[in-house]
Amino acid sequence: MTGPGRSAVVRGPITGTRARIITWLVHASVVIIALRAYRSPRMARRSLQHIKQLNGTMRGGEHGQKYYRCGWRLSWTPTVPQWPSRPFVRFVETILDRVQPFRPDEVRLGGVVLAVSSRCPLACEHCLEGDNLGAREHLAIAELEQVLAKFRDLGVVQVFLSGGEPLMRCDDVCRLIAGAGPGIEFTLLTSGVGLTAAKARQLRRAGLRSVQIALDHWDEGRHDRFRGRVGAFAWARDAAFNAGQAGLLVGFALCAVRDFVSRENVWRYLELVRSWGGAYVRILEPHAVGRYAGRPVGLDPLQLSLLRAIHDEVNTDPAWAHLPRLSCPDHDRRTLGCFGAGNRLVYADSRAEVHPCPFCRGSVGNALTGDLAAMVAGMRRAGCGASRPAQGFPQTLAN
Ligand code: SF4
Repeated sequence: MTGPGRSAVVRGPITGTRARIITWLVHASVVIIALRAYRSPRMARRSLQHIKQLNGTMRGGEHGQKYYRCGWRLSWTPTVPQWPSRPFVRFVETILDRVQPFRPDEVRLGGVVLAVSSRCPLACEHCLEGDNLGAREHLAIAELEQVLAKFRDLGVVQVFLSGGEPLMRCDDVCRLIAGAGPGIEFTLLTSGVGLTAAKARQLRRAGLRSVQIALDHWDEGRHDRFRGRVGAFAWARDAAFNAGQAGLLVGFALCAVRDFVSRENVWRYLELVRSWGGAYVRILEPHAVGRYAGRPVGLDPLQLSLLRAIHDEVNTDPAWAHLPRLSCPDHDRRTLGCFGAGNRLVYADSRAEVHPCPFCRGSVGNALTGDLAAMVAGMRRAGCGASRPAQGFPQTLAN
């Protein structure tokens, strides 16, 4: 562990002229991918215009893109694979195919949140996993490999490894990543507990690109209480340090509960995670599911607009360009529609049961034993139970 005296080596984002040049290069690469895919400039142009329009809707008036280095690759959001890379090419192809199909008529899926462990050393206030957590793993590594292979056959480009705590079986996680081949990008969703320097290096060597660390307060005691374990905050800090040192992109996920949402708290949080090397923060609203089931945990309209205002300010005011980029997936879902339920991704729990997303539970079958393509197709037809689907579109390049 790093201890409180050591701090992360914080590299600022790439902004300004260099970022504009990179943006131009990224766009040029997308045009080439589209021309290769369609072999028709007219079709390529039509799809690219559609994507451009949607990116504009999602990004609003952002002050130009900012980029973070991850080795020789660049990242601007955790929902798009790093650039340039094979997963990025496949990601763009998946989008193009959904806008104007150029492949045979088959079900393809962009991403999966895959729970690889049913064990966890924490007892978080908001935990969704409930009955799935226990002392033993539900799936052996060979079964996990089969599940991953089935998702890969469906075209999955991004895999978000969750749990439980995925670090409880770090060797298995490394084996999964290393065995998956070059076309998939992996992100580890973790509390940070157990992410030592040695494990961070081991994961990076296996091919992991980034970690998303759950941190729910800038105050050590408040975070530890929320996570049900003294030392959780220190682990999150050390995990960020170790991951950054190993060359992994570091981002954070914040469960913004009612008591937390104030301008001062969000600002202190952002300054803290910036000092820990965070490239982005995903602000998640509490949902009345799991341990929160039946409880009035939802944010009120004033709190929702405050979060949105901070989101816009941080992402659009050049004065805050040094802060991590913010995203509010719940807001995006309400305004643009749901990207889960097989539209872009699904959730597979630690028993391989397939659900629309980590928040909307309701298994449609088992990924290990069932017909995954049929499950995804069925989910798409049924749509998301909680919100309308994103309009015929699996993902943009900006979210
Ligand atoms: S870290 Fe995740 S799985 Fe573990 S208790 Fe917390 S929310 Fe549940």
